Amino acid sequence: MDRTDLALSPPPPALTSASQRARVSTERWASENFYCAACGTGLAAYPPGTKVYDFYSECKEKFQLKSASNSFTRSVLGGEYGTTLDSIMKDKFPSLILLHYDRQRWAVEDLSLVHRACVTTSCITPRAPLSSSARRAGWQGYTIMLQQIPAQGRIEVVARGQVRDKSEVLAQWKQTDSLLKSRPETRGWLADVLRCVERCFSTFTLVNIYAFEAELAAKHPDNHNVRAKVRQQLQVLRDLGFIEFLGSGEYRRVDSRRGR
Ligand SMILES: [Zn+2]
Repeated sequence: MDRTDLALSPPPPALTSASQRARVSTERWASENFYCAACGTGLAAYPPGTKVYDFYSECKEKFQLKSASNSFTRSVLGGEYGTTLDSIMKDKFPSLILLHYDRQRWAVEDLSLVHRACVTTSCITPRAPLSSSARRAGWQGYTIMLQQIPAQGRIEVVARGQVRDKSEVLAQWKQTDSLLKSRPETRGWLADVLRCVERCFSTFTLVNIYAFEAELAAKHPDNHNVRAKVRQQLQVLRDLGFIEFLGSGEYRRVDSRRGR
């Protein structure tokens, strides 16, 4: 995939709704041009109407496509809250393809992946259930808070029309994969501590991480020993190769996301 592959094909003339036109064109673009970041092979589309999953690959990774004419910055709307929590806990939630297209040029402008290892209960915020007068009364959606997802798991593929080298995308994906070794119940904590680590200088101390204590406590009100939990997650991050312990309470981030 290079710069010339970013053009979207014209939508079927019969479609008049702007969102449907974008949906059809971006889905087609992804199946013709994009690839699975786990194995590098092409993507195959699920039959129309399949819930939650849009694409799969030879290695059986699953993806959901979100397309928008505005860039994705803060949040993305999701589907039904309860079933999503359930699928996250069962490790069945797909990775996300966030595709921002330019409406004038009818081309892909930005594209990033959110690795499913980083879609945890910590970045999902429930919305108010629909009121009793709504057609789907009681239905509850959710929002994915993008800024709470570790940068490690937000994998840039196209940025302002520039295509990132495929080998870099695959390398970052592979490194993020190792977060899947932690269980889904604790992965929210792991992602949160990784997010804190990413907000520190590359060399940091425990005191630097404890500075986020109030924020972490607010996100995990059931936990009454945040510092112990933080130390435990730092050990997990060390075992997975994301940080190194330098001794005397000092740590260093292992930043192998090339090109950043
Ligand atoms: Zn694959």
